[in-house]
Amino acid sequence: MADNERTPMITPSEVLEHVYCPRFTWFMNVQNIPQHEETRFKVRKGREVHRRRATENRDYLRRKIGAVKREIEVYLASPTLRLRGIVDEVLWLKDGTMAPLDYKYTEARDTVFKTHETQIVMYAMLIREVYQQPVTRGFVAYIRDGSQLLEVPVTEEAIAKVQLLIRQIFDIIATGRLPRRTPYRIRCEDCCYKNICV
Ligand code: SF4
Repeated sequence: MADNERTPMITPSEVLEHVYCPRFTWFMNVQNIPQHEETRFKVRKGREVHRRRATENRDYLRRKIGAVKREIEVYLASPTLRLRGIVDEVLWLKDGTMAPLDYKYTEARDTVFKTHETQIVMYAMLIREVYQQPVTRGFVAYIRDGSQLLEVPVTEEAIAKVQLLIRQIFDIIATGRLPRRTPYRIRCEDCCYKNICV
């Protein structure tokens, strides 16, 4: 589906920030207070390393997955989903389905994996919508030390959860309502908004 600049769309990163703490959405998208520059720099730097690694030859991973064709660094946007983002790779699989593949320059840890899982589901939703092809799973390749490939099932339940998050985000943007704080107070300790978050 064509990108429509008049339709507001959010990125997977914004959805993950909302999952981390719903107030991030309020500070960034309602109050327009960006996160600290140094935080952004770290994120940017991380992404550059990540992108560089992503463009290296990873054919063996694609063979393992059963990919017959790929596109790299693909910008996907769907006004219907109100979502847009760049996925490292879009894969066409032997079984006729398609799948996202995302590279992570980290180790696979349970807590981190939950976040990556949500991210993969969002890319899968975008691929389905843009290419109009079935997507039943996605993949995360952890490439810090060697590589570890994890498969993420893309279920209707997981999609419904993401759709709910997107609705919540646009509801905060539309109403300007201050959302609840994260229940994990430890997250407030390093938060760049902690001095203004009451
Ligand atoms: S200080 Fe805590 S509640 Fe407020 S935005 Fe940061 S993480 Fe969320």
